Amino acid sequence: MRSRVSEAVRGTSSLDGMRRSFRTIIDRRLRSVERLPDLESKRDVLRELKERCVGNEDLLRDAMASLRENGCRVLLAKDSDAAVRAVVVELEGERMVVKSKSNVTKEVGLAAALEREGFEVVETDLGDRVVQIAGCEAVHPTGPACHLTRKQISELLSQQLGKPVSEDPVELTAAVRDEISEHLDRAQVGVTGANAITAREGAIVIAHNEGNAARCASLPGKHIVLTTPDKVVPSLNDAVDVVGMQTLYSTGKIVTAYIDVVTGPSYTADIEKQVFRGMHGPKEVVVVFVDNGRLGAETREPMYCIGCGSCITRCPVYDIVGPLFGAHGHLGGQGAYLLSSLGKHESAQDAGLYMCTSCGECEEACPVRIDTKGGLLRARAEPSARALGLDAEHSAVVASVRNYDNPWQMPRARKSRWSKGIALPSKGDTLYYGGCSTSYLFPESAQRAVRLMRAAGVQPGFIGSGEPCCGSTVRKLGDVELAREKAEECFAAFAAAGATMIVTSCPGCFSMLDSHDDLKARHGLRIQHLSQWLAERIGCLQLEPVRSLGGVTYHDPCDLGRDCGVFDEPRRLVRAAVGDELLEMARSRSESACCGAGSGIKSGFPDLASAIARRRIEHANEAGADTIVTACPWCLQNLRDSQTGASPVPVMDLWELLDEALGASEGD
Ligand code: SF4
Ligand code: SF4
Repeated sequence: MRSRVSEAVRGTSSLDGMRRSFRTIIDRRLRSVERLPDLESKRDVLRELKERCVGNEDLLRDAMASLRENGCRVLLAKDSDAAVRAVVVELEGERMVVKSKSNVTKEVGLAAALEREGFEVVETDLGDRVVQIAGCEAVHPTGPACHLTRKQISELLSQQLGKPVSEDPVELTAAVRDEISEHLDRAQVGVTGANAITAREGAIVIAHNEGNAARCASLPGKHIVLTTPDKVVPSLNDAVDVVGMQTLYSTGKIVTAYIDVVTGPSYTADIEKQVFRGMHGPKEVVVVFVDNGRLGAETREPMYCIGCGSCITRCPVYDIVGPLFGAHGHLGGQGAYLLSSLGKHESAQDAGLYMCTSCGECEEACPVRIDTKGGLLRARAEPSARALGLDAEHSAVVASVRNYDNPWQMPRARKSRWSKGIALPSKGDTLYYGGCSTSYLFPESAQRAVRLMRAAGVQPGFIGSGEPCCGSTVRKLGDVELAREKAEECFAAFAAAGATMIVTSCPGCFSMLDSHDDLKARHGLRIQHLSQWLAERIGCLQLEPVRSLGGVTYHDPCDLGRDCGVFDEPRRLVRAAVGDELLEMARSRSESACCGAGSGIKSGFPDLASAIARRRIEHANEAGADTIVTACPWCLQNLRDSQTGASPVPVMDLWELLDEALGASEGD
């Protein structure tokens, strides 16, 4: 996997078109959202609807019964092979089939499987058709070919059609439309997916923009619908809600061009009021529900997905490696989460279970608020996933925490070296917790933290070289038992030192320690990040603004910002230290972009971590910043390591900035 990731990182410029398209989607959505003041409550309603419907077997039975009442044939396919076999049987000798866009057909690999059996399969969505001709991977559920330039598409089409097709988008569109139309004109059977299936009306609801899905659904022979049980909702009103959100989050538009509602085969009753099937549309409608482990799955959350692709437009990993992250039909982290929830742990690893940085951007971007980050962390901790083993780099990290009490096989005694000569008591009401990254990699950061605490009027205690690792790194790599053991050791050491308040300058340690409500309650302890603790005492610091840094921007560490909601305190401190307004990057606070270092990415996929960091540095450049300030040792290290000669932006530790603002003589 590491070499595949490195190769994808090297070829990342081939995804420049995808990034531009994603920006267009995001900008269009931001404009649309201005017209939807109730969007957050719509997201709540959608989440509640999915929680109520996914895994609801009564609802599925009702939907199947209603579809049958409407004259549809309904099948339940246990897995992808069964779904393909069902389609082959339904083709009844037809050798050619047209299909519209559908994540489920991608999940089961329908087109490739049919082609292997000698069928001609023609995609009728423009993007899917281009991807099919190019023989490449789709990069977005509703914009499959958005990574290809018009020049590349014109070359592909010229070759396919045996005549020159210009790069003019109007001519390109007309050429693909005419080519697809020829296939649609001779096809008898069309395959579509469904955005929703309604239990009350027995309706198949299909949203699309091009008009091709309607044509696939109305061919004279047969309409085959491939869908999954999680697409079932109670009523047509609910289906319209799903389609509305899917459209907004996938394209940025408020409404899609077409919403087709199919409630059975085409028929006429114009002759003596007798019903005859197959008038202009299909004589038969067959609905195949593909289970693939969904009905027995214990974790249902990834099935709440409505396939909008919004998460991948914000995912820092997908931004660099594209569809290498995710699974067929389910791109990005959600794909790995889904596979793991279906018990397909090996496939989940292949889909990038360990490529996620745990930044949490996907949950912010998701209309259903699917917690892909949390899901992937839980998936890494699954016994069956762990039985497959970690790669060498990650195994070494876990072994090091177990054997050396830090992730880098450093001698324990060196952990407290930074405190030499500072004369810190080993006990006290308020303890400074350095954590492994700060103590070993940025010893001067720990020294500055203590100096700042003293300047705020508090003499902190420090446990010394016996300070245990907090366990954050191993928790993120799935070893939850070791992580818990480490946290318990920490809290026992804090209690033995007589502390009631623990202050740490590392967001990873803060997020980890603060998540243990039971241990905090048992030992009567509070945990604060140093930025929170200092912001409460900002009046005591007497900061002299540092004016030499030019425009300063603040990078939100994911563990501190999105995970723990600490956005304002570090900004207050930076403003006080530079005596000026901050330059905000286009993506900041809850929408901040990740630096790429977290969750084992720096150790497991260093090229990927650096490539993600370079994007973040570009954001700082775009904001016109001369200095990036951050409050996390991991972000600091990765952003510094990833500077390129072309446009470097110095990266500064918040504690260094505050220390400078304090003046050299303050503190110790
Ligand atoms: S948590 Fe971040 S890296 Fe992981 S899938 Fe979500 S957006 Fe991508
Ligand atoms: S996980 Fe959420 S954001 Fe991603 S495709 Fe599914 S519904 Fe859309």
